[in-house]
Amino acid sequence: MSPLAQVAVTTLKGVGPALAEKLARVGLETLQDVLFHLPLRYQDRTRITPIGALRPGGDAVVEGVVAGADIINGRRRSLLVRLQDGSGTLSLRFFHFSQAQKEALKRGTHLRCYGEVRPGATGLEIYHPECRTLSGDEPPPVEQTLTPIYPSTEGLTQLRLRALTQQALAWLGPDSLPDWLPEAMARDYQLAPLDEAIRYLHRPPADADLEELAEGRHWAQYRLAFEELLTHQLSLARLRDSVRAQQAPPLPRAARLPAQFLKGLGFAPTGAQQRVGAEIADDLTQAAPMLRLVQGDVGAGKTVVAALAALQAIEAGYQVALMAPTEILAEQHFLNFSKWFAPLDIEVAWLAGKLKGKARASALARIAAGSPMVVGTHALFQDEVQFKNLALVIIDEQHRFGVQQRLALRQKGVAGRLCPHQLIMTATPIPRTLAMSAYADLDTSILDELPPGRTPVTTLVIADSRRMEVVERVRAACAEGRQAYWVCTLIEESEELTCQAAQSTFEELSLALGELRVGLVHGRMKPAEKAAVMEQFKAGALQLLVATTVIEVGVDVPNASLMIIENPERLGLSQLHQLRGRVGRGSAVSHCVLLYHAPLSHMGRERLAIMRETSDGFVIAEKDLELRGPGEMLGTRQTGLLQFKVADLMRDADLLPAAREAARQLLEHWPSHVTPLLERWLRHGQQYGQV
Ligand code: ADP
Ligand code: MG
Repeated sequence: MSPLAQVAVTTLKGVGPALAEKLARVGLETLQDVLFHLPLRYQDRTRITPIGALRPGGDAVVEGVVAGADIINGRRRSLLVRLQDGSGTLSLRFFHFSQAQKEALKRGTHLRCYGEVRPGATGLEIYHPECRTLSGDEPPPVEQTLTPIYPSTEGLTQLRLRALTQQALAWLGPDSLPDWLPEAMARDYQLAPLDEAIRYLHRPPADADLEELAEGRHWAQYRLAFEELLTHQLSLARLRDSVRAQQAPPLPRAARLPAQFLKGLGFAPTGAQQRVGAEIADDLTQAAPMLRLVQGDVGAGKTVVAALAALQAIEAGYQVALMAPTEILAEQHFLNFSKWFAPLDIEVAWLAGKLKGKARASALARIAAGSPMVVGTHALFQDEVQFKNLALVIIDEQHRFGVQQRLALRQKGVAGRLCPHQLIMTATPIPRTLAMSAYADLDTSILDELPPGRTPVTTLVIADSRRMEVVERVRAACAEGRQAYWVCTLIEESEELTCQAAQSTFEELSLALGELRVGLVHGRMKPAEKAAVMEQFKAGALQLLVATTVIEVGVDVPNASLMIIENPERLGLSQLHQLRGRVGRGSAVSHCVLLYHAPLSHMGRERLAIMRETSDGFVIAEKDLELRGPGEMLGTRQTGLLQFKVADLMRDADLLPAAREAARQLLEHWPSHVTPLLERWLRHGQQYGQV
């Protein structure tokens, strides 16, 4: 038999060009694709339940005789069919029905139905059951296996998918679907044969443990999850190797510029900054591209570390690009670097999406001519941006950018030949599980020390019934010359509603605190307006800043020592931690008030309690991951990387070390198995290992 990866779906009965095109849209082109298109869940149609034994809630197959069918003109017109089997009566209700359907369901008809049993106006009911009329003396047998429900797309029915997988399964065997995990590995990690696992998951026997399957704990799922995680590790290893195999410009350790810079800085670097700085400086001297992630809690002083790295490249005569995920943050970096680098005679160029016309053309020209320090947003990724000799790319707040974007910048090397070094900085401490999967292609440094003189933030959890007290607290703080943030959180995923809420909070607080200068910044404002408001707040011209979570990242106003977060229960813990990091940056005692809306769920209370109890970003990140799952934590843009077919990072976290070790063995002893695995699992639109 030919390998299923090479047999086109059109080989299957009933698959013409039109259907093949539909299938291609969900990534099903070969029989291997069809077999790796696994059910999302299962229905149990393997037994007929007597009507008298039905319970509301679950799905069931019932068989009986129609005792009557009437059109009910209630609030919604419906066809009500009463079905009896000697043990009881059940109602089948149809809100949409044709005359032909009504006639087919007339009294005396023998029916087999499947659907969800629910309590209704007439007792137990099934809405829109799947029905089959039975005739003759011999009723057809019930299903022998659990019924798979596949992920689908418009125009592709479950019946169609079932028929296709049924045919494809007939081709399945150990020869047609090679098992790329060697026998020794299968033994060590107790992996079932691949074809058995696949067959099982498409058609589990009637006695399969549905609960185990639903929870993803079944041996067949374990077999596939292991292979998928292993393959993901392989892809990251490939990616890393292919980057490492490229040439980067070796940058000798700098002396003059860093010394000058530190002298002008006004403070001494912390021990952690020195240690991480040395790690980076060392990487940069190499001819292989650096790939380093710096994790440091909010306020740890990552920017200084970035500046030191930049100076090493600049002193060697190369260009540096620094990129941040939002315009506000990028602009803050631009201002910082301009201030720091002006005394060193280093020009800083600025590029963002909003830069248009002449200013843009001039920025592009300066970058192409070799402007040493370039700061901007993702606009730096665009094709029209040409660097003269880019040697170092610094990405701030990494979790907002995806792996693909990281790759895009790598490609902007020195004249396209050399690959730039890459430094990634994140304030979201990354739990180990995630670091092992999402960032396994990077080396990691941790800035585990805050600069001296910081006073820890005291966090208070207060119900919004005490809102007026909190407003008075803001008045008192500002009267003492402090500044405060009032943060409005996301409402029902709607930015529009959230901005409206911020607007009315702004009006309310302006009124209540008439003597204070109050500002407003939200996501619907033009970047220039936002920047202007932020600037006024930084300069102290505004005392209270009402904001949506746009201030989350990076904004630095040391005099702000009070933050109120409304409805903190709507945010993830890491996000709260980020926000809270905006205060406690100066010497004043800082407070963060979590102004929640009662009643809180048990989990909600637990989450806010964690915020009150700890300011350790790692502890918070672990809890966040535990409570919310990885997709949420990394932000939607990143999740593409983590959309596994079978595996689930949370559930299967304990498989990761083994999958990683197995990947290493495979690379070493069975290198020829690597590519087929990558093709099997990552075939569609993924660039792994082909930088
Ligand atoms: P983050 O790690 O959150 O990006 P920043 O780089 O913005 O932190 O630094 C936060 C603040 O701490 C800035 O005002 C910065 O100038 C200051 N800072 C950084 N390093 C030190 C240090 N070693 N001593 C004192 N202040 C520092
Ligand atoms: Mg920062």
